[in-house]
Amino acid sequence: MGNQAEHTEDTPDQAAFRAEARAWLAARAPLKEDGDGWSTRTTHPDVAAEKAHMDRCRAWQRELYDSGWAAIDWPVDHGGQGGERWQRQIFQQEAAQFDVTSGFLAAGIALAGPAIGHFGTDEQKARHLKPMLRGDVVWCQLFSEPGAGSDLANLATRAERDGDEFLVNGQKVWNSSAHLCDWGILLARTDPDAPKHKGITFFLVDMTTPGVDPRPIRTINGSSHFNEVFLSDVRIPAENVVGEVNSGWAVARLVLANESTMIGGGMDRADSAANLIALARRWGTAQDPMVRQELAQAYTKEKLLDWMGRRLQEDVRRGRQPSFDGSTLKVYWSESRRDRGNLGVGILGGYGVAGDHADTGVWANEALNRFWGSIGGGTDEVHRNNMAERVLGLPSEPRVDKHVPWREQVGGNG
Ligand SMILES: Cc1cc2nc3c(=O)[nH]c(=O)nc-3n(C[C@H](O)[C@H](O)[C@H](O)COP(=O)(O)OP(=O)(O)OC[C@H]3O[C@@H](n4cnc5c(N)ncnc54)[C@H](O)[C@@H]3O)c2cc1C
Repeated sequence: MGNQAEHTEDTPDQAAFRAEARAWLAARAPLKEDGDGWSTRTTHPDVAAEKAHMDRCRAWQRELYDSGWAAIDWPVDHGGQGGERWQRQIFQQEAAQFDVTSGFLAAGIALAGPAIGHFGTDEQKARHLKPMLRGDVVWCQLFSEPGAGSDLANLATRAERDGDEFLVNGQKVWNSSAHLCDWGILLARTDPDAPKHKGITFFLVDMTTPGVDPRPIRTINGSSHFNEVFLSDVRIPAENVVGEVNSGWAVARLVLANESTMIGGGMDRADSAANLIALARRWGTAQDPMVRQELAQAYTKEKLLDWMGRRLQEDVRRGRQPSFDGSTLKVYWSESRRDRGNLGVGILGGYGVAGDHADTGVWANEALNRFWGSIGGGTDEVHRNNMAERVLGLPSEPRVDKHVPWREQVGGNG
């Protein structure tokens, strides 16, 4: 890519901070060539390769921590720098241009970190936050179940009190990188007689605890990003409850809100418009009017997403309410991602799915992966429901089960 983005809207303080961040990054890593590099590779042929990638991500996270760039806007006593959110965002904008990443560690930090920081005990904060930020401990999310995805509050994994511990039994699914993670944030039902949102507890679980069994699921692109995680008589100390017993939904809501913003804000990928344009040039279709039209759309949508992100960033800088609903960004991002995957394969034609050219692997993978953004972090349909209710003020969905004990509901199997 070569040229770095200019940010003429920066205040003098912001410009100085940006220059400092850029210089630090430039001293440690190359710019991404055509937006590509080790850091953009998200699929790996086997678990050994996934682990090697994770180790590289851990090393980068450690470097960030040691140099004072990790968790720039977290409080100092949580291991952060006590800085401003705009500083973190500027650092992320700059880092996205270099061939570096914390990979999945960043997701764990963005999801588990605030939950522990906001709802955790002093002991939990002291024990978990710094190792998380240093990259020593990687966190996964154990929320979804076969019968609880969009309707997450329907979850059926049970946790029963037994002295100073909880005994946990159940099954989770879709758990990204759980087979490579050290700890997990877990939702389990502690009171099946309460309405579904009111009988859930939020736990921290050491993934090496006997009875925790992550089983990687091999997906169509050959990698094993997801797991199903079976929990059989898993003993979790009561001190690992975050917040109050049966009040885990409040903690979960914080995690879910952070998740959709994190996913919608993700721009650091191999399927950028710049990469699509380079691909079209390599494959001699850059002059084709139909391809040009789609390239223009991909470029325009990428710019719009960038500006939407900046607008939210400006709201943060000025301490205002967000100008638009986070679900809007998430859905616009997931639709654009799907279109870019289609276009990449379209440019390659038959090679896109069956060739042996180096481009095939990258773009076949982008095409196969193009729907993940429409599902992970809440499906497009669910985010559209959010927009209908919160933005358009349309009547909310009927929630007939809201006050009914979970045990008595269809799907409640206690
Ligand atoms: C890439 C990726 C990573 C993920 N990582 C994790 C992870 O680390 N940990 C974790 O716990 N989970 C994870 N998930 C799971 C994810 O949160 C769920 O897949 C998601 O919430 C949808 O749940 P579901 O798959 O059970 O689909 P369902 O909820 O069964 O939905 C099926 C279909 O019905 C539609 N639908 C459901 N309810 C409504 C409604 N009220 N109105 C309109 N349409 C509706 C949905 O939009 C969808 O099309 C991940 C998923 C993906 C794709």
